[in-house]
Amino acid sequence: MRDCLAYFNAWAQRIGMQDIHIDAAGNFHATRTGTGAKRLIVGSHLDTVPNAGAFDGVLGVVLGMMLAETTAPACALEIVGFSEEEGVRFQRPFIGSTAFVHGLNEEFLSLADSEGITVRDAITAFGLDASAACEPQMQAADAYLEFHIEQGPVLESLGLPIAIVDAIAGQTRATIEFTGHANHAGTTPMNLRHDAFCAAAEWALVAEKTARSEPGLVATVGSVRVSPDAVNIVPGTAILSLDLRHAQDDIRLNAFEKLLNAGRQIAAHRQVAFKATLRVNQKAVPLNTELLSAHANLHRMTSGAGHDAMIVASRIPSAMIFLRSPGGISHHPDENVLPEDVEAALAAGRAFIEKFK
Ligand SMILES: [Zn+2]
Repeated sequence: MRDCLAYFNAWAQRIGMQDIHIDAAGNFHATRTGTGAKRLIVGSHLDTVPNAGAFDGVLGVVLGMMLAETTAPACALEIVGFSEEEGVRFQRPFIGSTAFVHGLNEEFLSLADSEGITVRDAITAFGLDASAACEPQMQAADAYLEFHIEQGPVLESLGLPIAIVDAIAGQTRATIEFTGHANHAGTTPMNLRHDAFCAAAEWALVAEKTARSEPGLVATVGSVRVSPDAVNIVPGTAILSLDLRHAQDDIRLNAFEKLLNAGRQIAAHRQVAFKATLRVNQKAVPLNTELLSAHANLHRMTSGAGHDAMIVASRIPSAMIFLRSPGGISHHPDENVLPEDVEAALAAGRAFIEKFK
């Protein structure tokens, strides 16, 4: 992350940008002054996931910098590279953009990673002032624009390079815990077991079935931790993650209730304990499509993935442009983007920025 910040810092210096700095939450900022009255923020995130590709997040910051470098300076342009968007380390997404827009509260600062290091400790260890991260760093602006790879197969299936995002699906993230009894795999008869993993597996299949029966709903159990995690011991606990998304909040919330009920029923039937801890309950966010109305011919689509734009949209009109993801692949080293699609995104951004004054 330090290398990445240094790279953008050097780029911003080279093209003569102003107010180049890293804020208290580790977000990168650089501003190009404009001749007109309006101020536009263009950003995306600089962090990524384990075993990642090269484009998720950072492409949006690179495109912002390219626009700062190549467009006529009509509007003031602030480029932001957000930190900690993915939620990998602290199990909470959008930490950088939340700090930027709202400031971090005590709950955020106390979130701990798997080694018990809190957000506050991590900010301090990075050489930043955690208490300053409580104050929103965002200055008044007229609009926010974010470029991002689609991370799905839709644009490729339509043969289109870019699209306007009309809304970001809401999402629920929860930790689900089944607790039974760990016991000897050889001496414990099947009918006397309280196998936490089998309960968890049954519940994961209910989550899959629930999502498959509702158009647009996606449910994922992406992490399973079994303990004691040994070949010859009946699992005593199974801790799962749930990620549930839909563009309509009522559909998502009803599905989550249904899954909680299913968990309780499965646990009762198998005589194990069930516990659910809600981690994220993020409403669906409609984005501003008026801003990009000059590009009325562009396809419009809903984003299944969360983006920093959904945090910024709570304060200022925010728009997003998706770039086609070859093979629909993302969060994987094969993640890619086509040079001509980057050109199309730049052209759309350039046309927008040069009229925004
Ligand atoms: Zn991203």
